[in-house]
Amino acid sequence: MAMQKFAVTPGFEVGGTLFKPEQLAILGRIIGENAKIELTTFKQLYVAMEEDRLEEVQGELREVGLQILPSGFFTKSLIACNFCKGADEARLELAKALDEAISGHEVPSPLKIGYAGCALGTSEPLLKDIAVVKMKDAFDIYVGGEAKGLKAHLAKLFMSGVKEEQVIPIVSRLIFTFQEQGKKKEKFSKFIERITIETLREINA
Ligand code: SF4
Repeated sequence: MAMQKFAVTPGFEVGGTLFKPEQLAILGRIIGENAKIELTTFKQLYVAMEEDRLEEVQGELREVGLQILPSGFFTKSLIACNFCKGADEARLELAKALDEAISGHEVPSPLKIGYAGCALGTSEPLLKDIAVVKMKDAFDIYVGGEAKGLKAHLAKLFMSGVKEEQVIPIVSRLIFTFQEQGKKKEKFSKFIERITIETLREINA
């Protein structure tokens, strides 16, 4: 029987990316004994299971509040911090709306988007392809972080002082530009180097 892989995430709240015990119990019970669960570095579980029961299983997982997303060359769900400064101060609702807007889009190579509710950045936003960091009254957006390999480097500041209502349109435009102009399998950090951060800023002007 062919196996198929998909991503599972509980979303996030004040406290972090938290699976409820009953969600994990149901996941373990229904995916079948041949299934495999992989813990990714980007706060998703990858489930590989027999494809004939895929729809039924995904439906049950959605019913207990889990999000189902594609694995592979897609935008990942938002890699958010724990919102320790509180939902309002760290802008939890914006992060949830951003997650909904940016997750699961097909892109030339897997794209990780990070969010930090303050400048302490405990979710390591500067190691992500795109990062949104809440500053005092506005947001900074970074691009091109690379966490892997010997040439690992931090993301660069793309825009500063961004108003809350502009965050989702700007991040969505970055994803769209990568979809349109990225080469197949090109990493986002390489894409930024090739088309330059200045050109990206002009596209967003
Ligand atoms: S980034 Fe700031 S608000 Fe978010 S968990 Fe870390 S310290 Fe708390």
